[in-house]
Amino acid sequence: MPTVPSVALNNGVEIPQLGFGVFQVPDDETAAAVSAALQAGYRSIDTAAVYGNEAGVGAALAASGIARDELFVTTKLWNADQGHDSTLRAFHASLAKLGLEYVDLYLVHWPTPARDLYRDSWRAIEKLVADGRIRAAGVSNFQPAHLRRLLEGSSLVPAVNQIELHPGLQQRELRALHADLGIVTEAWSPLAQGAVLAEPALTEIAGRHGRSPAQVVLRWHLQLGNVVIPKSVMPARIHENIDLFGFVLSDEEMTAIAALDRGLRTGPDPDTLN
Ligand code: NDP
Repeated sequence: MPTVPSVALNNGVEIPQLGFGVFQVPDDETAAAVSAALQAGYRSIDTAAVYGNEAGVGAALAASGIARDELFVTTKLWNADQGHDSTLRAFHASLAKLGLEYVDLYLVHWPTPARDLYRDSWRAIEKLVADGRIRAAGVSNFQPAHLRRLLEGSSLVPAVNQIELHPGLQQRELRALHADLGIVTEAWSPLAQGAVLAEPALTEIAGRHGRSPAQVVLRWHLQLGNVVIPKSVMPARIHENIDLFGFVLSDEEMTAIAALDRGLRTGPDPDTLN
């Protein structure tokens, strides 16, 4: 089974650099997908309250027999639940669905800037960290201005910012800011949901290594230092997406992929999603 390297977060907690995402997986199919991922060697699972499949994730974790401290579970606070007291309620509802005593990473899913509640939500998250219910607290889809505003009111620096990131949207400004602030960059839709996999530059590199374009893209993320959470419900792809540790992209290949950046957003714009 592949050994996935870990990345140290700013509080010393270690996150596997590769995890398994379950966005758009129906709850009744989630346990099977997560079980396949655990069997393939994934130990980090990324879900969210709004995905409606925390119960399916929890069922697979419980059935796996894998020790809790070998697992890394992420879930997220949904936008409608932002605010101090509603965050506390939503967090405990997530914990109950997952069947867990604590989560490894809890993220504010979107800043929803027009509602301006993320600082209140963060104060609730600070308490949950102090109570031992959250090992690491982070955010998702935060733009530089949202990160700066959050940090004006709190000394708890997010451990992670989970953002849309793939060869078509390389997020150079945010990655540089994260490096300055000690925030780990986690890439969602790391494969751009498949939208970049036919790029000639990627198929050419893939052919050279005898790998798939998806493996090349995931390997590119790992070599940049990103944490990645590809999703698949197909066992063959679940295996393919973790089989990344037997080849290395050259500097020239990394540069060729860097040239594919074109501002391609497959998901919502965080500045306007409210
Ligand atoms: P991904 O970039 O991981 O792509 C998933 C899609 O690509 C699926 O359609 C899958 O199909 C297909 N696919 C997977 N592996 C391969 C492969 N090896 N070759 C070809 N196609 C492949 O997209 P997601 O949007 O799912 O992002 C990953 C995770 O990130 C999510 O599951 C979720 O956990 C998180 N996320 C977080 C967001 C946030 O706002 N914080 C927003 C969006 C995602 P199939 O299943 O049929 O194999």
